[in-house]
Amino acid sequence: MSASLSPTRTQFIAGKQVSSNGTEEIPVYDPATGEIISTFQGADAADVEMAVAAARDSFDKRIWRDLPPIERAARMTAMADLIASHADDFAELEISDNGMTMSMARATVTSCANSLRYFAGTIQKIHGESTDLSGGGRQLMAYTMREAVGVVAAITPWNAPLGVLVNKMAPALAAGCSIIGKPAEQTPLSSILLSQLLAESQLFPDGVISILNGHGHIAGAALAAHDDVDKITFTGSTEVGKKLVVASAHNLKRVTLELGGKSPLFIFDDAPLEHAIQGAAMAIFANSGQVCFAGSRLYIQRGIYDAVIEGVAKIGDAMKLGNGRDPSTQLGPLVRQEQLDRVLKYIEYGISDGAELISGGMREGDKGYFVRPAVFANRERNKIRIAEEEIFGPIVTAMPFDGLDELEALANDTPYGLGSGVFTSSNSTAHKAARLIRAGNVWINCYGILDKAIPFGGFKQSGWGREFGLEGLSPFLETKAVYNML
Ligand code: NAP
Repeated sequence: MSASLSPTRTQFIAGKQVSSNGTEEIPVYDPATGEIISTFQGADAADVEMAVAAARDSFDKRIWRDLPPIERAARMTAMADLIASHADDFAELEISDNGMTMSMARATVTSCANSLRYFAGTIQKIHGESTDLSGGGRQLMAYTMREAVGVVAAITPWNAPLGVLVNKMAPALAAGCSIIGKPAEQTPLSSILLSQLLAESQLFPDGVISILNGHGHIAGAALAAHDDVDKITFTGSTEVGKKLVVASAHNLKRVTLELGGKSPLFIFDDAPLEHAIQGAAMAIFANSGQVCFAGSRLYIQRGIYDAVIEGVAKIGDAMKLGNGRDPSTQLGPLVRQEQLDRVLKYIEYGISDGAELISGGMREGDKGYFVRPAVFANRERNKIRIAEEEIFGPIVTAMPFDGLDELEALANDTPYGLGSGVFTSSNSTAHKAARLIRAGNVWINCYGILDKAIPFGGFKQSGWGREFGLEGLSPFLETKAVYNML
């Protein structure tokens, strides 16, 4: 545990950092060394009860949502400043328990502050509409109001721990909700620092923000089943997302889901080649492939197939793996031993299923969870596991294609629909492709760019709803209609 963090008071409930009621000790590993750097007691059902009661109380008493909008916006902006002023500490903790590189850790902190600032700016723009009605002989008017949905549970993954958590807090707070975060049990540290800063600053009334650190199947499941929770916002695997839909049925919680992907990236033979090769490499290797929209299916127009594979492999081979604290590190470790085992298993599947391993794919070093970025050629476009299943690691499967006529069938031959990329110098090809791909995000001559002003989310089994942009605020609001006889 970082020297400045409390090793025991790892839960944030009713405005205070408290110890868990639970007795189970959960280890936190440094992925760069494989060593246990901390342990914490996971939240249990009793902690969930307390957090939900505090959230419910703050919501029902209208303590946060009835503050003047300008005051709420100011507090959210102050939270953004608070996070930004501890950028070094947050970056260090993200590296410690997730393994990400320094540049990504710093970008995460900036992204959190930006998210809070963006949604703070929406608060004074939340409004309903008024209209005259046809009325059938009566004089009527009606108006709508947009109200906070209630108590929100935000269940988040380990691959971008602070970023995903704060991205969910920001619109929930803007809408006037009370929110309970449940970070992934692998990566609690940045959320404990956030709890500490929130406890010290008292920016928000007690119960408006709570954070429970613990196992998903215990704390997460208890939140999902709780009748006093009105909404779940979840980022994680499609498998767990489906469980949350079932768990939410009892009180018909509102549910938004940001789930997995197997995203295609197309390089046409008229693309600026060096740029496209660099884009394809970073689309899959960034954060060691532990990115929901990683471009893991690489389609290359046949005439440039070998040249692109060679180029992507060369970039992967040259990447410096290492501890994220070293600013020269380009790729950090995978998050856990389980993730390393999973990635190495998929390397074996790729070989046994008949793909050609062009480069990488081996573990690096005997400490920590490092694996060299892997490029597979699947020349026959066989329906093999590495080409179809989400791996969440630095493995790309490269397949040839013969032009725009094939794109729609290839892109959409997956249960997912999260990210996609198109590299071409033809505007016409690019925008035709953008229409044909069934995915929430299409990047043209770039990949993976996100902006708080633009909605992000998935088609098909990649999710429900959108985050970011004004569309990202809507899932935290209910619309109420008020009729008035004149
Ligand atoms: P995960 O296993 O689905 O876990 C996500 C969160 O759900 C964790 O906090 C986990 O808790 C919790 N959880 C697990 N079982 C639960 C249950 N029965 N009830 C309630 N909560 C439960 O996902 P992950 O391995 O952390 O992250 C990788 C996945 O996330 C990938 O599939 C990736 O594509 C997806 N992802 C999607 C996006 C997006 O925006 N679309 C972004 C990032 C990641 P514990 O970990 O504590 O058990």
